[in-house]
Amino acid sequence: MKKLIAVACAALLSQWSVAQDKGILGQENTPNVKLKSINIGDCKWTEGFWANKFDVAENAMVPYMGEVLTGDVGHALNNFKIAAGMKEGKHKGMRWHDGDFYKWMEAAMYVYAQNGDQSILEEIDGYIEIISKAQEEDGYLQTFVQLTDAVDRYENRKYHEMYNSGHLLTSACIHHRITGQRNFLDIAIKHADLLYSIFSPETKQYGRFGFNQTQIMGLVELYRTTKDKRYLNLAEVFINNRGKYKVEDHSTTEGYPIGDMVQERTPLRKSSEAVGHAVLALYYYAGAADVAAETGEQALVDALDKLWENVTEQKMYVTGAVGQAHYGASSHRDKIEEGFIDGYMMPNMTAYNETCANVCNSMFSYRMLGLHGESKYADIMELVLYNSALSGISIEGKDYFYSNPLRMVHGSRDYSQHNTETPHRLPYLECFCCPPNLVRTIAKSSNWAYSLSNNGIAINLYGGNRLDTKLEDGSTLILNQVTNYPWEGLVNISVEKCKKEAFDIMVRIPDWANGTTVKVNNEAVNAQVTPGNFATINRKWKKGDIISIDMPMKATLVEGHPRIEEARNQVAIKRGPVVYCMETPDIPKDAGILDVYIQGNAPLVASYDKDLLGGVTTIETTLLLRTNQSDNKMYNTVDKPVFKPYKTKLVPYFAWSNRGDAEMTVFMPVVWNDL
Ligand SMILES: [Zn+2]
Repeated sequence: MKKLIAVACAALLSQWSVAQDKGILGQENTPNVKLKSINIGDCKWTEGFWANKFDVAENAMVPYMGEVLTGDVGHALNNFKIAAGMKEGKHKGMRWHDGDFYKWMEAAMYVYAQNGDQSILEEIDGYIEIISKAQEEDGYLQTFVQLTDAVDRYENRKYHEMYNSGHLLTSACIHHRITGQRNFLDIAIKHADLLYSIFSPETKQYGRFGFNQTQIMGLVELYRTTKDKRYLNLAEVFINNRGKYKVEDHSTTEGYPIGDMVQERTPLRKSSEAVGHAVLALYYYAGAADVAAETGEQALVDALDKLWENVTEQKMYVTGAVGQAHYGASSHRDKIEEGFIDGYMMPNMTAYNETCANVCNSMFSYRMLGLHGESKYADIMELVLYNSALSGISIEGKDYFYSNPLRMVHGSRDYSQHNTETPHRLPYLECFCCPPNLVRTIAKSSNWAYSLSNNGIAINLYGGNRLDTKLEDGSTLILNQVTNYPWEGLVNISVEKCKKEAFDIMVRIPDWANGTTVKVNNEAVNAQVTPGNFATINRKWKKGDIISIDMPMKATLVEGHPRIEEARNQVAIKRGPVVYCMETPDIPKDAGILDVYIQGNAPLVASYDKDLLGGVTTIETTLLLRTNQSDNKMYNTVDKPVFKPYKTKLVPYFAWSNRGDAEMTVFMPVVWNDL
């Protein structure tokens, strides 16, 4: 009997100790976070918006992308096969193409975590086998360098070795958490040990080597997985090195802008302005947030707070997109590509807004949500997901945008001169970083929907789902969320199973949701319900309890800060978290998008159309079309414009460019008729 009890206790203890060790972020022992990841697969979308998107991810995005990347067009698997000696040929694709493949593998694993389809697992195991053969004896792995005679290991940071390393480590940790297998993880460990031997000693040669630093996030996840502190220390080295060395040309920096472009002008702990390439910056900040979560270093947290504030209050579009310009300069006069420029400098038509940068903005916010436990971070995650992330992929799930501007006008740009900006989505991008980054985000979005708090759960994202998880104390919690969000604002969450003792359910009240009511079993709750905050309901919950959150879904006009010159006297239209746009299929053929003016006092009527763009709510209004546009001279004398009222509809921004070549705008000039 004693033995039986001991066995039962051991089983119980082991269940507790592994209760939450399968999160997107492996935070089960992370000391300095207020909210932690739930186990991957504990939340599944069941119906509505995100269930539909996940369905497209499962049945189109991931399989189609897999065909492309393992075939001759994508050539990513071919590179590994050639490096493994299993195939003849040359490296093709960008230097960071290995990383793109790891991201796709991660996306496939999230799908497997939801549907349990063994064939996905077997397919991925086959690729891991090839990757293990491509890896060199000492752990080195980067097919571009391995297959290109003219280059050598770690001689130039622009080869993106660190970027590929980071995605390898992250993908391998996720694979291990979902499957329990070590085949991918062992490759990652062998590789990280090599990184440690080269980059942990302080050397001038490698002091500035960190570049497009996904390796920081990857190393922290590997530390969390293996408990080997060397990986955390190495992650910190990459942060500490930045800004420590003189910014001057060096053999490891040749051929790519230096200084602010790669966040090496100012040490992170002294930074208060987001600078440089937006993807590089946000992966770096996200990684630093992971390190801070482990070390608790206040100086790092303070700097990240300032940077997050700077991004979201001065350099972010209404769609959550970031990286205003393809080319520009920083305030230190460093050349900037694909990145941040001055605050409030927000061009619409030439906005760069790389899909990866937007996704990274949400990844950074997810980590800040963990650090601080404040809902404003989940507001940004949501804003990005519904707008500037989803705009990167077609409704069908097979065509991609790299750049996500807020306005598109035919003939305004010579796209043959641009390698990444396109007037419509393309089925393959030569630089393929964005598509798998976005698809893995859609595939894992249900894991972002909830976080664990000290004694309860936080609801970060809304959407029909079922949560079956364990709280920090090991007790089971099952919630069922029913809603047609974001098209409707009512969310009902029923408690199906929970512990007897009181615990918190933290309900996110979005920053736009003025007038939201929260009820439990139809009675007002004893909790502060304030937009931009969590309403924390602490009570003894029981099976059958129903939380009803009613957010007013009113279409509203949004204007920019007065210092955003590019949006002066213009408005965007937003309903809930969804930003709308005007697209030329919805105006007469002889009109252009620059003819469109919004009537500020015209009604905005929401209407759901199940047959349009995969099922969306449109906003009907009567706008004005200007019929006497000025001459095409640079400056023209202006007469009173002639306007023609036109009744039409706006569509969600994310769904534009799914109806053929179109012009589009988010911001439109506004006319107030009763002034
Ligand atoms: Zn990208």
